[in-house]
Order: sequence, then structure tokens, then C-alpha cells
Amino acid sequence: MPEPKKPVLRFAPSPTGMLHIGGARTALFNWLYARHTGGTFLLRIEDTDRERSTPEAVAAILNGLEWLGLNWDGQAVYQFARAGRHRQIAEQLLAAGKAYRCFATPQELEEMRAKARAEGKPPRYDGRWRDRDPSEAPAGAPFVIRLKAPQTGETIVHDVVQGDVRFANDQLDDMVLLRSDGTPTYMLAVVVDDFDMDITHVVRGDDHLNNAARQLQIIRAMGWPEPAYGHLPLIHGPDGAKLSKRHGALAVEAYRDMGYLPQTMRNYLLRLGWSHGDDEIIPTDQAIAWFDLRNIGRSPARLDFKKLDNLNAHYMRAMDDAALADEVAKLRPLSDLAKRRLSAAMPGLKERAKTIVELAEAAAFLFQDGPPAPDEAAQKILTGDGRAILGGVLPALESTDWSPAALEAAARAFADAGGMKLGQVAQPLRAALTGRTASPPLFDMMAVLGREESLVRLMAYVS
Ligand code: GLU
Repeated sequence: MPEPKKPVLRFAPSPTGMLHIGGARTALFNWLYARHTGGTFLLRIEDTDRERSTPEAVAAILNGLEWLGLNWDGQAVYQFARAGRHRQIAEQLLAAGKAYRCFATPQELEEMRAKARAEGKPPRYDGRWRDRDPSEAPAGAPFVIRLKAPQTGETIVHDVVQGDVRFANDQLDDMVLLRSDGTPTYMLAVVVDDFDMDITHVVRGDDHLNNAARQLQIIRAMGWPEPAYGHLPLIHGPDGAKLSKRHGALAVEAYRDMGYLPQTMRNYLLRLGWSHGDDEIIPTDQAIAWFDLRNIGRSPARLDFKKLDNLNAHYMRAMDDAALADEVAKLRPLSDLAKRRLSAAMPGLKERAKTIVELAEAAAFLFQDGPPAPDEAAQKILTGDGRAILGGVLPALESTDWSPAALEAAARAFADAGGMKLGQVAQPLRAALTGRTASPPLFDMMAVLGREESLVRLMAYVS
């Protein structure tokens, strides 16, 4: 018995802009299903629209996928480079009588559109060259190649997400396969590429559902195997409206720049339209084990930034301290010393931050030598009384072994002796050492900075 064929999936972005989060989710679902089934995940760059496709957009897509960890198998396929092959198929259909040359002039097409408009119908080609002999056309007249599509009955898309979606064939006109300049249309290119790439499952946004019916007509005319389809509902903004610029953060890069981790994004994007019971935290290995096209929701998914923050906080806490320090280093260059301090301070820092950006900000006082510039609130603390406290507690601190416990005991003893609470002593210490009024546990931070550096910072306020 031959082994059943493993699924082959693809992500097929048009490089006309950034990788947006809808596209990223499509890529993720394809990738997950391929990894779940031990199949293949291919990448095809649909760069046939020469005016709108740019190398920057290609780079943004490749970088975005790499950052998300969605590795594709083999080399990316570039659609434009395959135009000759697409043309060949159009000509094959022509030779088989499944397509025909259409010599309708732009003016005739405009008249057809105007007529349809006047009758309140969708603009459609009326099939006037379908059964006409090309010899009736003026010599050398330009022509397009159109598919001789079925005119009666239905084309049914069996969709794993949407169920059976039916299209009346009399509503689908004879689509153009090859333009008069010999370039293939997008519809033809997709079908030929999917066939040549052995694609078994087409999973993409539901804005392509209508295209599926048209693409099926080409597939059937060729007698090619039909892929399984899954059309994903759109992503909506937190307010339930269709996602738009107004909602901000459309590009995957924006999430990286805001300090979200790739593993967070994979979990988050997975939950946009896919569920496994009530599980919210689904690490990637678990997602690969569980993912199935059948569990994709039918209604639009909503962005929820609070969920995103919570997930990111979770994955940050779960991360190794040194790896987390590396993430900070990707945002800003760090000296070896800064990196060592950061890793040592990480247990306290990572409990408090929801993003890598927040983490980097909270840790900024570790990255320099000498007293950090105090913020406004810290400045207020570092006036007369605060400075007097610093001057008073300093000798007690100096006499310790600089361990967190000993530092705390010394500060506490000093506070007790002066009838103060520990907090009153800790406040100016924190302000002088970190430049802030909030920080990870103070005495831990003093130990991280070390005796010498801490003393330099404290002395700056002691006359
Ligand atoms: N290139 C299309 C897009 O970016 C996707 C086509 C497909 O997945 O079939 O929307």
C-alpha cells in the first residue's frame, strides 16, 4: 500500500506592503497544519503585480516570517518568474477547446458594463466570442484568452471552515486567463502554481472565497486534483469593526518593536480564530500537537491587547534570564557589564514587565555607570531630608558584606534607631540608585550594582 500523501501547504503573500497580522495568522495556520501532519509548508511570493510589488515588501515579509519562527521548507517560489509556465497552460486549455480567444474591444467591454449597470446586474462578460470563429476577427486584432466556463449548474467550494459554499455558474462569467499582452492573470497563476507545487490544502483569508470558485473552474478544466480549502474569517479590531489603520499596530514588525516575543505572537495569533477548549496559554509545541483545521472558528476574531499583554508577561516569566537579556540587547546595545547586571537583576525585573520595551526601561539604571538622572518624583525625594537620611545610613551600609539580607538589616536598624519606617530609608536609597521611585526589590538591586557602583551613586547626594 502506498503511504497516504502528506499535506502540502503554502503561504502566498502579495508583496505590496508589510506583513500584516492577518497575513501572519494565515501563515501560522498553514505552518501549524504542516507541522502537525508532518507535511510541507511552502512560501510563494505573488509578485505578479509589477507596479505594486516591491523588494522592500518582500524583505518585510521574509523578515516577519523569520522573526515569528515560521520557517518554510525549500526555496521561496516567485510567481512572476513563472509567467511562461502560466502562459503554456492557457495555451493548453485553448488547444483543448476549454478556452477561447476573445477579441472584444475595450469599447465593447465598456458597453457591456454600462448595460449591466443599467439593468442593476453585476458587470459580466457576455460570452460573445465563446462560440465564434477567430477568423471573424480583423486580422492582427489583439485578443485575450478566456476560460470556457460552465454556464449552468453550480460550482461548490467544500470549505473546511465555511462548509459548502455554492456559486451559480451563470453568475460567473468567462474569466480572462491571459491578457492581450500575453501576461497571465492572477487567477490563472495561482491555480498553476498550486498545482505545480503539489498543494493539497489552500488555507487563506476569506476575502479569497469567491476566487476559490473561479479557481476551481480552471482546475476542473485542466482535470487537476482539487485542493481542500479553508477560508479564514477576518480579524476585527477590539471594537468589533473591521481591522483598519485606526486600530493601530497592523504590521507584525510593530509588535516586535513594542516588545512582544515571537512565542507570544504565535500563541496570540493562534487564538485569533482557533480554540482548544478554554485554553489561553498554548505554547507552540502544544499548538503543533493540537492544531486542526476543523477547530477554526467561523466568526471574525477580535484583537484583544490585554490578552496580548498577559500572554507576553507569561512568556517573559517563563524565559531563561540570559535569553531575556539577549532580547533587551536586540532593542539597544549593551556592554558586557550591563548585560551581566541585567541578567542578575532579571528575576525581579521580569515579574513586573509586560513587554521587552517595559523591561528595558525598568532596567535602564543598570546600563550606565555613575548616578542615573533622577526623574521628577525621584528629584523631590532627593532634597534635604532624603539626603540627610542617605548621609546617615551610608556608614551602616558600608560596614556590611553587601548581600541583600545584610543591607536590609543595616537599613532596618538605622530606621528603627531613628524612629522611622524602613520605607522612609528605602525611598531615598531607591531614588539615588535607580533615579526612580519604583524598582525591583531595592536590596537585590544594590547587590546587583555592587558595592563600588552603589556607593558612587549614593555619595553623589551626600555632602
Ligand atoms: N496573494 C494573495 C494575498 O496576498 C493570496 C492568494 C492565495 O492565498 O491564494 O492575498
